[in-house]
Amino acid sequence: MALIDFHCHLDLFSDPQAVANAAASRGMYVLSVTTTPSAFEGTRRLAPEGSRIRTALGLHPELAAARRHELPLFRSLINETDYVGEVGLDGSAPHRATLDVQGEVLSEILSICSAAGGKIISLHGRGAAAMLLELIETEPTAGECVLHWFSAKPSVVERAAGLGCWFSVGANMLASAAGRAAVKAMPRDRLLTETDGPFGCTEGRPSTPLDVGAAYDMLASTLEMTRAEVDHLVHRNLRALLSSDRRRSPAQHAITGPLGGPRA
Ligand code: MN
Repeated sequence: MALIDFHCHLDLFSDPQAVANAAASRGMYVLSVTTTPSAFEGTRRLAPEGSRIRTALGLHPELAAARRHELPLFRSLINETDYVGEVGLDGSAPHRATLDVQGEVLSEILSICSAAGGKIISLHGRGAAAMLLELIETEPTAGECVLHWFSAKPSVVERAAGLGCWFSVGANMLASAAGRAAVKAMPRDRLLTETDGPFGCTEGRPSTPLDVGAAYDMLASTLEMTRAEVDHLVHRNLRALLSSDRRRSPAQHAITGPLGGPRA
């Protein structure tokens, strides 16, 4: 069964094309997120024709204040993809000072997503989980929100689940007790896997999509499931996400084709 890396920065590897080709040749499903709208077109070109790599339009919260002027570009590209990310909020010490601006930028992005009929959105919420959930709640038609590396307290995770959020979980998150406690509070039918490469790491080097199996193994041990059960669960969850009620554009139909086909 093809593995799923639902949050990876292909464009930030030292040899992006090699990483993209390696994932594509294994039939992997990769959500290739970007950190600025100006990176979208070049990053999309990394995905080989016919692959299951999908490119998301992003504006990372750590760059939101400096790249706010790219919002018109974000708006002009929104119909090019069904996926948005990486977007969100970062309330950790180096970025707390721009949190108000980050909130304005994210509100605008969610409203653009809503006006475009709803997107699948990969969100960052480090140090700002409660504020993130408030903004998501304010724009219920923005689409399907996938909270990436969301190691908030279990009560906050439960609140996110109540809002209908999905969760992408990586091996680095599962290495901490807080991360495992968060994952145990996530509904199993809302779980996806990720590497966050090259920021996520495997044995001291940047993770690539090919390393995502570690997330599956650690989910299996954390949730007391077999690896085969986790493989099926994550695959089924992705299919459910892609066929969700969110109004779909033609590009979205294209994606269900390969996933619905023979299993690799
Ligand atoms: Mn990331």
